[in-house]
Amino acid sequence: METRTIPLLSKLVALALLPVCVCAAADQVVEKVDRPAASFVPPDRVVVFPVFFVASDQTRPSKEQAAKLMRHLRWAQQWYHEALSGRDTFALGADRPYYYQAKQPLAHYSSLAPGMRAPEQVEELLDHFELTRFNCPFVFVILVDRLQERPAGGRTINGGLNTGGGLVQMGTPQLDHDPGFQSTLRHELGHAFGLVHSDVYGYDLKTTPSMMAYHEPFKTKGFEESATPAQFIPEDIRALALNHRVFGKLRFDPAKDVPAGYTLAPRPIVLGVMPAVHHPDYAIKVTTTSGELLGSRAANVVLTPIRPNRPDHRGPRRNYDPGSMWASANLPDGWATLDVQFPLEVTLTRIGVHSQHSGTVNAAHAIGILAEKDGKLKPVVARKLTSADQWVQLPKTSATRWQFRFQAGPSRKILLRGLRFCYNNTELFPPPIPYEFDAD
Ligand SMILES: [Zn+2]
Repeated sequence: METRTIPLLSKLVALALLPVCVCAAADQVVEKVDRPAASFVPPDRVVVFPVFFVASDQTRPSKEQAAKLMRHLRWAQQWYHEALSGRDTFALGADRPYYYQAKQPLAHYSSLAPGMRAPEQVEELLDHFELTRFNCPFVFVILVDRLQERPAGGRTINGGLNTGGGLVQMGTPQLDHDPGFQSTLRHELGHAFGLVHSDVYGYDLKTTPSMMAYHEPFKTKGFEESATPAQFIPEDIRALALNHRVFGKLRFDPAKDVPAGYTLAPRPIVLGVMPAVHHPDYAIKVTTTSGELLGSRAANVVLTPIRPNRPDHRGPRRNYDPGSMWASANLPDGWATLDVQFPLEVTLTRIGVHSQHSGTVNAAHAIGILAEKDGKLKPVVARKLTSADQWVQLPKTSATRWQFRFQAGPSRKILLRGLRFCYNNTELFPPPIPYEFDAD
């Protein structure tokens, strides 16, 4: 990871990029957010950053409201620490809320379609702090002026787990008038870290003892804890442990985290990508002239989970997954081509190639990488591939449009489970379920 600590953003210097004190349980820990290496590079760490989003015609929240918000955030931080058995909690990127005077009057934000108010406000904040959705090191806790038109909400910016920043949206008046502010904050932070509702795993929302359910007795009252506080169910802890940018110390331990007799859902289920309004989408365009067979799509090689290349005793095709893999057509000259367009210029130094499925079917035997310069595709590197899962180094190259060519073996077909892109040691556009989950 790149660990330059020169502050990029003067506005943030005083707030977030200088070391700030974070009370994680009993011991005080000094946390620090490093400057983003570039607009396309995900942050090393993600911290929670409180913002009062004040519409241009509204007045600033009071000092008392600011103090209440920080008290709630520290309490939520402590609750996460306890719910994770003291192993970890999130870090706070500021010791007081940031007052952001928004560009538009309240009527503008209120008039936005449901689901588009948060994206518009997040983009405004990203512009203000000179960040992008790709490098944002914050889970913004955004307190807006009014919340009548929509309930509180939370989500990741780029979907999945460990893909960067996130957001929580709540109303400033709720600080004073909603006795359940704290339990709602814990729940929405869960979404902002990548958690889904418990019913997505098949559990009853009204009775499951998860913070990600809606069990009434879990509600806090002001600054008073519920008599029967919520917990995290094993699926929640497993998902949080995959979000290393927020929970760097948390490891999921099935022996301790899964009670006897509990049937753990086989895979994490993740949230989708936040839509863009004025900014580029979190999307990579992948096209091919080499065919898409067996229900697969070339686009599956990016931003989908990368499944293992595991033989299956039940039959040779049982580990084929058309939802996350790409199967080429028969290749007359033995080469398949993928055209890949990123939403912004990226600099790559390493590519991960995951070809073949079930340990035997359609590995790639060589790769050629081309990058667009001055409107033309220029060769960058060509290499033999000796393994189905292999890193390929390339000279540091920047481009928006790339082409990847893969040489098939005797089968004359290519099967790709995924491509990965690295700038130095940081993976760009990582899969929504981190590779490590599927790796072994
Ligand atoms: Zn929810």
